Parts: sequence; C-alpha cells; structure tokens
Amino acid sequence: MVRVRFAPSPTGYLHIGGARTALFNWLFAREHNGKFILRIEDTDKERSTEESLNEILRSLRWLGLNWDEGPDIGGPYGPYFQSQRLDIYLKYIDKLLDENKAYKCFCTKEELEEERKKAESEKRAFKYSGKCKNLPEYEIKQKEQAKIPYTVRIKIDQEGETVIKDKIRGEVVFQNFVLDDFIIMRADKMPVYNFVVVIDDALMQITHVIRGEDHLSNTPKQIHIYKALGFNIPEFAHIPLILGPDKSKLSKRHGETSCGVYEKNGFLPEAFINYLALLGWSPDGEKTEMSVDEIIKEFSLEKVHKAGAIFDNQKLLWLNGVYIRKKNINELTELCIPYLKESGLITDDDIKNKYEYIKKVVALQQEKIKTLSEISHLSDYFFKDNITLTEDAKKILEKNKQDIKKVIETLKNIIIEVGVEKSKVEEKIRIDMEKAGIKPKVFMHVIRVILTGTTIGPGLFDIIETLGKDVCLKRIENTLANDF
Ligand code: GLU
Repeated sequence: MVRVRFAPSPTGYLHIGGARTALFNWLFAREHNGKFILRIEDTDKERSTEESLNEILRSLRWLGLNWDEGPDIGGPYGPYFQSQRLDIYLKYIDKLLDENKAYKCFCTKEELEEERKKAESEKRAFKYSGKCKNLPEYEIKQKEQAKIPYTVRIKIDQEGETVIKDKIRGEVVFQNFVLDDFIIMRADKMPVYNFVVVIDDALMQITHVIRGEDHLSNTPKQIHIYKALGFNIPEFAHIPLILGPDKSKLSKRHGETSCGVYEKNGFLPEAFINYLALLGWSPDGEKTEMSVDEIIKEFSLEKVHKAGAIFDNQKLLWLNGVYIRKKNINELTELCIPYLKESGLITDDDIKNKYEYIKKVVALQQEKIKTLSEISHLSDYFFKDNITLTEDAKKILEKNKQDIKKVIETLKNIIIEVGVEKSKVEEKIRIDMEKAGIKPKVFMHVIRVILTGTTIGPGLFDIIETLGKDVCLKRIENTLANDF
C-alpha cells in the first residue's frame, strides 16, 4: 500500500511551496488509494510554536488536504510529533554505536574550526578527518567519565557512489567521497534532521518520499543511514522549486507566500488547489480548469516537470475569478458576507433583515470579483449612506459639467414617474435622454458616477433597480444640492 507523508516544521505559516508538496503527496495517496500521513517535525524547540502548528493545520484543512494519520488523530505509527519520539531515535543511535557503524566524536568546536580553515587554505572542501573514528575504548570511557561532550558520527564508506532513482529527476548519482562521517546526533543529544527523517519514514512505513528539490542533496546521506540500519529504502520524488517571475526561488519579495493570507484575501480553496496542481505538473492536453477529482484521476509523478515552476499571481487571480463565477449564488453570498461584515458595510441585523438585498448585490458583482474580499470595496455604494467620488468619477463630472443638471433632472423625473424597475427604466432613460439631446455615453457615465461614486461596476440599470427608488432619489438630490 502506498504511504506518503507531509512533514512540515511548525516554524512559520504554510508556504505555497509546502502546500504544493502536501498537495502532490495527497494526490498521489488518493490516486493509489493509499495513506497520507502528517508528521510534525518539531525538533527545533527554539523555533517551533503551537501557533505555527495551528496555522499549518488550518491551511491544510482549508485546502481540503485531509490526512489519514497525524498529530491530532493519531494512527498506528504514532506519535506523529518528532518531539515525542526522541527515545526512539536514541535507541537507533545506540544501535549504530553498538554495531560499530557510528562513533562518538569528542572533537571540540575549535579543533573542527582548525580543520575547516586548513581545508580552506588548501583549497579543498572541508571533510571531517575521522580523528575520533578509531579511539581506543579506554580513551572513550575516560572522556565520557570526564563528561566531555560528544557528537555521534556515522561511518561513511568513501568508495563508490550512491544512486537515487528519483521518480521525477531520473537517476541522480552522488559520489560517496564527497561525504564525510557526518554528525547524526549533536552534543545536546538531539539527533539531526537527516537521521530522524529516516527513522520516521522507515518506522512509519513510508513508501514514497515526495518533497521539495531542496532536499535532494540530503538524500544520499539519508540513504547511507537507511543502509546502515538495514531499513528498506523508499522511492524518492523531488519536486521542482516554485520560482518568482524573475526565476529566483519564490519568496516574500515576489508577493504573498502564505496560504493563510490567500485564504484571508478571499481565494477559494478549489481554485487554489487547481492552481497549485498546475505548478510543476500538467495533465495531457491544454486543460487549466480542473476539479480535484479530475486532478486525482490524471495526476502522476512521472508527469511532474523537472524545471522550476513560475508562480504567476495574475493566473491565480484569473482562475479564482473563474471559480467565483461558477459558484451558485447562495453559496457565494455566504462566502462574501464575512468580508462585507468585516469591512463594516453590513451588520448582523442586516444579514437577518436585508439578506435578499445582499444576495442581489453579490449576484451583480459575481462577474466582476476575482477574490471574495474585492466584494467590499467594489460594493460599498450599495451599503453606505454617503458615497464618495473616486478621482476618475470626479473627472467624469468635470468633463460633462454643462450636461450634469439636465441628466440628473431627466433621471429624477423618470424615476418619479416609472420607478426603478430595470425593464421600465432602461428604455425610458434612453428615449428621454435622447430627447433632451444627451449622448448615451454622457448620461450613462454621469448617472453611474452620481449613483455610485465610481466609473466601474455592474450594469447601470441593474444598479438603479438594486439601489431602489429612495436611495436613487436621495443621491440625485445630494448631487443637485451641489453647485456645478
Ligand atoms: N521538515 C522538513 C521540511 O519542512 C521535511 C523534509 C522532508 O520532507 O524530508 O523541509
């Protein structure tokens, strides 16, 4: 059975790159009816926080990447927090020591620094000299009794090479002589990442390690540990990095990288998942819009690209707009309400008493908004008593100064006479304005500006109908009260 894992360190938010790694693991598990395991790599006590853990879990849940075993739900291979597995790791450190596959290294920082400097001056890469590899037993005992701190290093055979058959990158060959007897347990008795990840992946029976390409260079070290412990080596798949438009690794300076912020800014999880899936993977054909089920059906690691994937915020926005337009109006209204509320445009009472009105506004904006949060600033004139003019709107009034009064008075008479119903008002406005000698472009622009304060938005006659007679007349009066 396929068993894959996502192993975040709770030291920050869920980064887009991490989310994509989680997604590819999840897709692979779902495609093969396997298990998706969540493991929390919290051995860095200084940097791991509860807050970060909650944020990561929240983002994974938002994306719908449900896990079959994990920190909150447990499972047969727990605990799923590395910080709770220390005794397990130490047992395997002891095993390697007992079997003489690892040794205690008492070299001080200064000694190692000296070795490093020497290598530098001889222009060769630093490799630990192996000074403590063959210490006599009595010397080890002595040093231990004297409480001299030690690290544990694994013995690396310098001959030959280590071949990784990566499902994405193909065969990747590392020469063993580039490695030294690297540290597997630090002096504070904390085993290092490369060691614990192997123990966990082996004991949790992970069949495929799917992770970011930045871990490819760790893999030969991990393979040496697997071999030393006699564990089965899983398959590896290293997915390409996500890059910014300038082709450097995606970071904050390219824009937002936190999934939580995308959620807050009103992206839909299904759009976000769709977009993430296409970052470094493409299905056969030219499809861009794909449901999760379609993606699961078509996903395969072999089709993941080798080259880095460029994060294109505009494409994500566009795709989000596509998903917003596909939503049914009841659902979209529910999704927009928190944003309208947060920006102070509606209250709980409004939600109770003016629900149909809110829904109408959302329906009018459905074509326009690319994120849920845009609903607020695009719709404020539907909810505020007093509108303020944008700079563009002011320019429209300035440009059409001599016609404003005529437009507004004609509009006022029409509304008083026939009301605001779109079917009645639309034709009458066109006819009466023409009679008054006003060009369509002029009256359409002016009416929009005086009723909404902006130059953009949904259809004008929809706006008039939705605002209703009283509000339209009030805005007309307010404008007439101004001097043009
Ligand atoms: N905790 C590691 C990370 O966040 C996991 C690496 C791995 O998947 O092996 O990068």
